[in-house]
Amino acid sequence: MSEHRSPVVVENPKGAGPFVIVCDHASNRIPDDYRSFGYAKDALATHIAWDPGALGVSRRLSALLDAPLLWPDVSRLVIDCNRPTDSSNLIVVESEGRPVPANHNLSPAQRAERIQRVHAPYHDAIDACLRRRLAAGVAPALIAIHSFTPVYLGKSRPWEIGIVFGEDRRLADDFIRGLQADPALTVGINQPYAPADQVYYTVQRHAGPRGLPAVMIEIRNDEIGDEGGQHQWANSLGKILVAAEPRLGGASHAAA
Ligand SMILES: [Zn+2]
Repeated sequence: MSEHRSPVVVENPKGAGPFVIVCDHASNRIPDDYRSFGYAKDALATHIAWDPGALGVSRRLSALLDAPLLWPDVSRLVIDCNRPTDSSNLIVVESEGRPVPANHNLSPAQRAERIQRVHAPYHDAIDACLRRRLAAGVAPALIAIHSFTPVYLGKSRPWEIGIVFGEDRRLADDFIRGLQADPALTVGINQPYAPADQVYYTVQRHAGPRGLPAVMIEIRNDEIGDEGGQHQWANSLGKILVAAEPRLGGASHAAA
């Protein structure tokens, strides 16, 4: 990248709370030296390029919980940090039926270069953050924040929020219970995505082998289109996490 802008951002790295927040699709930035590839400008504002609103929610949560927040400052159109490096969706050639010509016919060297510049340092930073906290005797829990589009491939999605989880339900159950207490909400349980859709990579990679409590949150992006909505959702999620905290400490210590 020709500009001096790091592809990985770590905010509040010394946050003393037990949670670590990651926001894989926080940014729609195309670094300068990829611009000539010709990404469609109008697509860059949409969910095709990033998760609109997710960074605002993550930042607010980071402040509320005094949690480190990590995110890649590069659009998922360049490389998707929430996919394994051998996935066919790591660098998409089409999104929602729309071709991404910039990614057609990439050489193995070009793929490797994107992995080295963005994907690897992002995951190294998450790894280092979790290791430091475990070494310091803090039992971390990992929270991944995403947003999804209200209409996908012509189909409306009824859920305001979706809780995505694998075998570890320690945090997922708190969210499901807490959110379902509001009868006005339609809560997706492994909807609109589930780990089988290959969307659980970051959480599984970092929390899975260490036995850390973890969950992935998907918020419908029309709920968090402005700062008011982002703060409101972060406050609701933060309350649930604060309530879960005393119970999680023991569980993750044991697993660490
Ligand atoms: Zn996402």
